[in-house]
Amino acid sequence: MTYIAPCIADPDKIRLFAEMSTDIGEVMPYLNAVMKNATYNKNGPNLTFMKEFRLVTLYPRKITMAKALNTTDAWQVLSWIKDMINDVHERRDSITPDHELRSRPTALQIYGWLPKTNCKDCGELTCLAFAVKLLLGQKSIEQCSPLFSPEHAERREAMLEIVAAIGYEVPEKLGSQD
Ligand code: SF4
Repeated sequence: MTYIAPCIADPDKIRLFAEMSTDIGEVMPYLNAVMKNATYNKNGPNLTFMKEFRLVTLYPRKITMAKALNTTDAWQVLSWIKDMINDVHERRDSITPDHELRSRPTALQIYGWLPKTNCKDCGELTCLAFAVKLLLGQKSIEQCSPLFSPEHAERREAMLEIVAAIGYEVPEKLGSQD
């Protein structure tokens, strides 16, 4: 672990970065093939998924995690991730690598990552309506201004990964906040 801080929205939990001991870029399409609920962005590349309530993103040389209970909990999840990567790597000859996003997230899944306040700042009456239009390409993620407040840092991270994974451009300045 190279960085540990309290979660912004929930200071009782922690967010962290961890470094990989080796580059896992080549394994990521195999992980995408076996992890049914992950969102894969081949252009990153990165793979985002929930481990119960924790939000995890794998990069070739880095892991980010939010909402871990504490450092012991984080170590346990990191150990699980390490074992999973090693297992998939060992079995890669029997796995067909998947370089694409297997299924687009639904509007309800997108809604789950929005602030869900129905504040109308984006010009839509509800967050669900915004989610539908985002999927249709009629809205862009930066139009949800509350998402870019410190309070929603973890949600924003997940949303930017998902938006990038479904093929929409994420302006660099948005991806680099916090
Ligand atoms: S600006 Fe964001 S939080 Fe407000 S209604 Fe639109 S999607 Fe929901």
